[in-house]
Amino acid sequence: PALLDADALRADFPILGERVNGERLVYLDSGATSQKPRAVIDAEVDFLTRANSAVHRGAHTLAAEATELFEDARATVAGFVGARPEQLVWTSGATAGLNLVAYAIGNASIGRGAPASAPYALRAGDEIVVTESEHHANLIPWQELAARTGAVLRHIPVRDDGTLDMDAAAAVIGDRTRVLAFTHVSNVLGIVNPVDQLVALARAAGALTVLDACQSAPHLPLDLPALDVDLAVFSGHKTLGPYGIGGLYGRSAVLESLPPFLTGGSMITTVTLDEASYLPPPQRFEAGTQPVSQAIGLAAAVRYLDGIGMDAVHAHEKALEARMGEGLRAIPGVRLLGDAAGAERVGLWAFEVEGVHAHDVGQFLDARGVAVRVGHHCAQPLHRRFGLTASVRASTQLYNTADDVDVFLDALSGVRSFFGAGA
Ligand code: PMP
Repeated sequence: PALLDADALRADFPILGERVNGERLVYLDSGATSQKPRAVIDAEVDFLTRANSAVHRGAHTLAAEATELFEDARATVAGFVGARPEQLVWTSGATAGLNLVAYAIGNASIGRGAPASAPYALRAGDEIVVTESEHHANLIPWQELAARTGAVLRHIPVRDDGTLDMDAAAAVIGDRTRVLAFTHVSNVLGIVNPVDQLVALARAAGALTVLDACQSAPHLPLDLPALDVDLAVFSGHKTLGPYGIGGLYGRSAVLESLPPFLTGGSMITTVTLDEASYLPPPQRFEAGTQPVSQAIGLAAAVRYLDGIGMDAVHAHEKALEARMGEGLRAIPGVRLLGDAAGAERVGLWAFEVEGVHAHDVGQFLDARGVAVRVGHHCAQPLHRRFGLTASVRASTQLYNTADDVDVFLDALSGVRSFFGAGA
């Protein structure tokens, strides 16, 4: 695909014109949260200025207009991941989506609100499988679910080069596996995991698959039905969209069989003092007042991405990733995490600098206007596996340029001598 013109696109992102510590902002922290184009900021402001009103209720004109904009946003965002509108549930973010799924499975397991035959209902001794590289958001909800149901939490280990140990995966996923939850792309390793193989193992075991697409949705063309996962989550604020919005995709049959997590207004058909019956998906999972302006902002974000083309975004970021990887390997004392030969990647590298604490690296770079993330990136087990408590992470988006990468590499190459840690 044609490469995009990042220099031209940068003008769409007001914040990229800001100076930080007197330097041009080099924003390499999109893995944590992306910057927002003017189109997203305007979409939210425009909605709040012209059409703000409660959706799905009220007979007045603005309520009807707000409802239409909200449901159009659902169709747009669903289309961005290859789904139909009724297969997209709004959440407040990926963390909320993963908790929704884990709690809904928990409710099904205790017999609340789901057909008794729900194949993913957990009994003591059943197994939930994750990977060693999960973000805490796709780990702790499963730990909690295991504790509540007596299920056993197992994991697929990561190899030294950052790839998943697929031999171990084939051994770990088996007859007792009821749920396989895994990340499409780790927010530390940047490697695209083999979804096809993992889904095939889960299908053979009759297990439900849950995909964390937080770090793929903003960077790759994504067709969730084609990936054949049962459920998937992604995050608005990492996908050029607003905070407080995310998507939960589900295969229709799976969403229809899941009981709700949160209950209350907007998700019911009939309520008596003793009991309630629930709307079909997606409304069954959308109790309470929804993040309407955020949904409209996210629709503007994915329209912006589609306008550029996700193939072009991915190709651009691959070029940046290759340049950055090459530059990092050439700096003495830098150790990359997940430097697997020939791996399919997104534009993200985590690394340690021998003799310099990650936080010191971060501050040193910040003085040059370079924004990176430091710490455990909500993946403590993965850091522990590599013998670390913290790393530095540089991550790109479509608005980064080769010059951004070069400024970052140039600054980093001086960090060890500054801290007296070698050349
Ligand atoms: N999973 C991964 C892989 C992530 O990178 C993140 C965000 N750091 C999350 C889950 C949590 O997403 P959210 O901020 O939307 O809750």
